[in-house]
Amino acid sequence: MSGVSVTKDTEDARPASGDLVVLSNVNKHFGALHVLQDIDLTIARGEVVVVIGPSGSGKSTLCRAINRLEPIDSGSISLDGKPLPAEGKELARLRADVGMVFQSFNLFAHKTVLENVTLGQIKVRKKDKRAADEFARTLLDRVGVANQADKYPAQLSGGQQQRVAIARALAMEPKVMLFDEPTSALDPEMINEVLEVMQQLARDGMTMVVVTHEMGFARSAANRVVFMADGQIVEEATPEQFFTNPRSDRAKDFLSKIL
Ligand code: ADP
Ligand code: MG
Repeated sequence: MSGVSVTKDTEDARPASGDLVVLSNVNKHFGALHVLQDIDLTIARGEVVVVIGPSGSGKSTLCRAINRLEPIDSGSISLDGKPLPAEGKELARLRADVGMVFQSFNLFAHKTVLENVTLGQIKVRKKDKRAADEFARTLLDRVGVANQADKYPAQLSGGQQQRVAIARALAMEPKVMLFDEPTSALDPEMINEVLEVMQQLARDGMTMVVVTHEMGFARSAANRVVFMADGQIVEEATPEQFFTNPRSDRAKDFLSKIL
């Protein structure tokens, strides 16, 4: 894996600090279900936030709301100082700055690994093919699958596919990366190879929101743990505080079941 960093901030004269993602009083319902309740969450540039909580607590909806894959009912979300509009060209532009990696790898099955990583660069970032290929190969090397470039996703292991999915997201040079249970669908022996790539990304300074049940990752990579239950942020703490001394009964109960 090369140590090339892909977090860039060249077009932006702002200092490399400050708030990158700000959710303010965000509410979302699915019918009668109040799935996000008055969510206030601020993610600083370079920060790694791990979101944990029981199934059904709204973690995926929160991730999807951050890039407006899921419309919200009220509140506001801003990215790098700009409010995310509900729709339109500006939304598409801002959304391209948010990389997303899902539980299911979602690679394009009929494209090669290399094409999976070049497509968005060419179509969205308007790069020429040569530049896109070159950057894609750098990223594939970085996630440890450089020698798989000409294969199709189905020819790769789950861990390799998920690393390609990370490379594909990074190819857009996102300002923030969202991971929604990226290792949950993997065989156990492949989990670490994906977590290691994410650890490296965190060390390189990428701003990350990670929904995961991997508590080892949370302890070692997170700057902050956000604990959700029933659509609310119940607790926010450093991993050290959260795992050794959770404040809420909900968090204590959750931790007693998983640790
Ligand atoms: P988590 O990721 O924490 O498991 P989700 O955000 O996926 O939770 O879901 C939160 C709640 O919203 C759950 O009760 C889920 O069943 C419900 N939900 C999620 N997506 C939809 C949807 N598209 N329509 C209706 N209900 C949904
Ligand atoms: Mg989920």
